[in-house]
Amino acid sequence: MPTVIVTAAITGGIHGKEISPCIPEQPDEIVREAVASVEAGASVLHLHARDAAGKPTGDLNIFREINERVKAKTDAIVQLSTGGHEDTIANRFKIIDLKPEMASLNTSMAVFFLHGKEYLFENYRSDIERFAGRMLEKGVKPELECYSLESIYEVENLISKGLLKKPYYINLVLNIYAQGAIKGNYKNLTTMIGALPDESIFNVTAIGSTQLSLTTMSVLLGGHCRVGLEDNIYYSKGVLAESNAQLVARSVRIIKELGFSVATPDQAREILKI
Ligand code: ZN
Repeated sequence: MPTVIVTAAITGGIHGKEISPCIPEQPDEIVREAVASVEAGASVLHLHARDAAGKPTGDLNIFREINERVKAKTDAIVQLSTGGHEDTIANRFKIIDLKPEMASLNTSMAVFFLHGKEYLFENYRSDIERFAGRMLEKGVKPELECYSLESIYEVENLISKGLLKKPYYINLVLNIYAQGAIKGNYKNLTTMIGALPDESIFNVTAIGSTQLSLTTMSVLLGGHCRVGLEDNIYYSKGVLAESNAQLVARSVRIIKELGFSVATPDQAREILKI
């Protein structure tokens, strides 16, 4: 019986309370949402930090506070984001030095369309290699964020240079509103799964209305599942989700109804060889 890792993406690096009052912004709220999500069945917590005004930030002190408080209150795997696309590469890089159990590692360029502007999400190959090398050195397990087939080729480049440890944990990210991203549908998901390197384990993140269907398909296709308010603020069409835990609890129910089991944090460590 497959065991499924459920990741909760608690608060993103893009939108905040202007689109949903339920998106946590301050450390107290983020920690509260994280704890509730673990109680609902999440074993990995994907976390960003925000400043006092609620804007995404790469401030190491805030990241450190969130990491330590969540670790003190849960046994879940903390996965800090190094993907603040409005932040500098240098700031994003420093997050690895906090030595979370996991960190996101973005594997391709993208251009985000936000607030009527274009933002280049810089991930040159040389930077991707540097991030991977530092994570290897610090014992931080990367979640490889793949936005298209081109991203998967970058993972192959890292493997060829000995910069990744097996198993490769690849997050297939679909339906981001950006240049360089892939639309969220079944064909694109199965194409990306078909292109995965050997000894990969995959997770699926799907933005907006595609979250529930594509993460459930991931489970059926042998993958793992990420849900949460970073990626989707609705529970159903036009109805805002009340919390991250509500989205986690629904996926946990579905996974169990399908006859699969939901990984505890220690089972997730075992699967990911952390
Ligand atoms: Zn994120």
